[in-house]
Amino acid sequence: MPVPTSTFIARRSSSFNAFKNPKEHRRYRSVSTCLRRSPEFHWTRFDVHTTSLSLQTNLPIELLDLIIEFSLQPVHSFASVAGFSVASRSFRQIALRHYFSMFHVCKAERWRKATSMMPQVTSWARVLEASAEALLCSLHTLREFRSLQIVHLSFFGQSIVSQHKCANLLISNLPSTLYKLSLTDVADINILMLSCIGSNFPLLTSLEISCTERLDESCCWSCFEESASCFWHSPIPDMFPSTTTLTNALMRSLKPLKKLQHLHLGFFLSPDELLSKHFRHAPEDEIGPFGPEFCDVCHDMYSPTTRLAELQASVGLAQVLKKLKTVRFSSFFAKQDSDACERKTTIWISRCDGRIKVRRRPW
Ligand SMILES: [Zn+2]
Ligand SMILES: [Zn+2]
Repeated sequence: MPVPTSTFIARRSSSFNAFKNPKEHRRYRSVSTCLRRSPEFHWTRFDVHTTSLSLQTNLPIELLDLIIEFSLQPVHSFASVAGFSVASRSFRQIALRHYFSMFHVCKAERWRKATSMMPQVTSWARVLEASAEALLCSLHTLREFRSLQIVHLSFFGQSIVSQHKCANLLISNLPSTLYKLSLTDVADINILMLSCIGSNFPLLTSLEISCTERLDESCCWSCFEESASCFWHSPIPDMFPSTTTLTNALMRSLKPLKKLQHLHLGFFLSPDELLSKHFRHAPEDEIGPFGPEFCDVCHDMYSPTTRLAELQASVGLAQVLKKLKTVRFSSFFAKQDSDACERKTTIWISRCDGRIKVRRRPW
């Protein structure tokens, strides 16, 4: 139903005339005083009146939706729609619906308050960005978010034990209609969790599960080493004896994801010993801790086999996931500048005459 724009225009003109710069305000006042004293003032006032009358048209909801959607880009901030939201009750509904289409939850308190004070948010939210811990306080509320399409959960601060329980609970309470799922700061990427994702979200086109952001080089060598010992960053050979066994397990668990196009597995395919050896041979000098990507010894010993393993695993996954276009792994040996900074390597897949080809740049 069309909403009259007159209310919005009236409120907007009063609230938007607040000049932040005092010089600008003085200039505005002197111009308006001159205008009132001038012989043309009555004509000008009449002109302004007719102009505002001509703006009192009815805009369809679809157009207002587009305007609000546009004003929330590129920064999704409430400040962008604050003026619009106080214009009228109908405008407030439109503004809130669009603002809460992306719902960000970092604390349990916000999760509880927002969902109890504004129950409509469960049907408005399309994108949910949240701390996994915050959502746990009310899982039945999560089940009510039936319109979600994109979900990003951070497991920051969770131990391997607490994360297992937490991840399974959250995965089983999210709607099966998701097409994009991202789980970051995970302490352990295990096959059970991947199988659970594979069977629960058949429409996924993009999946990210990553743990290697937990490596912490911000302090000293001891902290770097300790951070590496608190999560499973390299599943070979302790969890899987070889790249082939790991790839086979991944293929079995992710097979139900028939629409998957982009897969990001944020663990290393280099052997687990790489980091422990690096900690032993890296010089402890004044420049602070650094990773194997800056170490010639590690490059010579591990780069060729790791890079080969990354390509082989991508081919295996592409054989089962027929729509797959890119695979990303965490890697110390990415050669592209952008990927190397993030310790990630991206592999692009091409399919031609039944053959699968892979390389580290787009086809
Ligand atoms: Zn330290
Ligand atoms: Zn090294």
